[in-house]
Amino acid sequence: MNSVATLEKITALCKRRGFIYPSSEIYGGLANVYDFGPLGVELKNNIKRLWWQRFVHRRDDMVGLDASIFMNSKVWEASGHVASFSDPLVECKACHARFRSDDEGFDMDANCPECGEKQGFFDAKQFNLMFKTQIGATQENSSDVYLRPETAQAIFVNFKNILDTTRQSIPFGVAQIGKAFRNEITTGYFIFRMLEFEQMEIEYFIREIDWEKTFDHWQDEIMNWALSVGMKKDNLKFREHDDKERSHYSKKTVDLEYNFDGNFKEIYGLAYRGDYDLKQHKLTFADQQTGESYTPHVIEPSFGLERTILPILLDAYTEDENRIVLKLNPNIAPYKAAVFPLVQNKEEIVKKAREVHQMLITAGIYSAWDHRGNIGKRYLAQDEIGTPYCITIDYDSLEDNAVTIRDRDTTKQERVAIDKLCEYIKSQIVKHEA
Ligand code: ATP
Repeated sequence: MNSVATLEKITALCKRRGFIYPSSEIYGGLANVYDFGPLGVELKNNIKRLWWQRFVHRRDDMVGLDASIFMNSKVWEASGHVASFSDPLVECKACHARFRSDDEGFDMDANCPECGEKQGFFDAKQFNLMFKTQIGATQENSSDVYLRPETAQAIFVNFKNILDTTRQSIPFGVAQIGKAFRNEITTGYFIFRMLEFEQMEIEYFIREIDWEKTFDHWQDEIMNWALSVGMKKDNLKFREHDDKERSHYSKKTVDLEYNFDGNFKEIYGLAYRGDYDLKQHKLTFADQQTGESYTPHVIEPSFGLERTILPILLDAYTEDENRIVLKLNPNIAPYKAAVFPLVQNKEEIVKKAREVHQMLITAGIYSAWDHRGNIGKRYLAQDEIGTPYCITIDYDSLEDNAVTIRDRDTTKQERVAIDKLCEYIKSQIVKHEA
């Protein structure tokens, strides 16, 4: 992250301007759960749209899926999650607070970080991260189901459906964006680790022989994506898992890590999963051309949506002289423009400004409206939420049918004809679409 951005500043800005609120705040909140406010939901939707365009619409070898959160529990038994999707937890003997014993900085011999007592901890026990609930009206006839801890398994179990209903053949990939749930114990660091979060995942099915070149391709794609949404190269690095960390079925796994205030932490994962998943679900591929039948291998790029948002905000945050500016990529910014009538009390100016605002919205350029206070203050309010262009309709606009457009980053102002305005803004936005 850059030198002026801190997690505290970002958290405060997100709350103040309606990006992200603590969940159920009026009842004291709920640890590791957050709500996305009016600007947060725009930011999220813009990121998801860009991701989908890039990895589904622009590629012939990819299709999408939107599967349910609930699945038959047999899925999670076959995938290995019921048996082993767990973290090692220790419990304080005094206050019974639980901690991950594998957390960096946790010391079994130290005082309890919660109550401060030094009575020691019970030995580590494996704690399954899946949330469990029941389907059914009564205890007796209900059955256990899990809230999915990842979106990936739904792709595997739909492998045959997708092959039967599309023209895809190996190699091809399936992408999905959706909620995932994990009963995480470690708290803190804002939206980095949540109980409920969104994943953007891809399972890419290949022949075994192609795994290395496909892995390299997706590693490049992951980095290109991160840069295209505005993360700074200097704050990113890949880290390869060693033998101990890697799952037994994976020959290679790398994480893309982001530099959170000196600590590099995982934001995305890329795993070569071999043929483990399809074999567990007893799924194969029958090649119509050659008559050959085999189990495809899988490369899995996995992107966390909230772990995309946090680095983007940290890298976009700047303070210059007396203003805070979120230098968001215009494609991601909640509003692409803001429209201001210079004064509130001149009916023709307000009317013209309303027409310009409506014209932008109709053209798909989501625009904010602000008629209060002086123009300088209105600029500052838009800078802080990353709006790339502010448009002012003034007295001259009534004569020349033009507006003043001010650039967020340079603060330079230009006069642009109203009938050229949509084209002008769209061309600026396209420039940022890597
Ligand atoms: P960590 O080691 O940080 O717990 P992980 O290795 O368990 O992460 P994966 O299972 O590889 O994570 O999940 C894929 C992606 O989903 C991660 O790279 C991350 O972006 C996101 N993700 C995982 N857990 C969370 C969480 N609790 N909150 C927000 N995002 C998450």
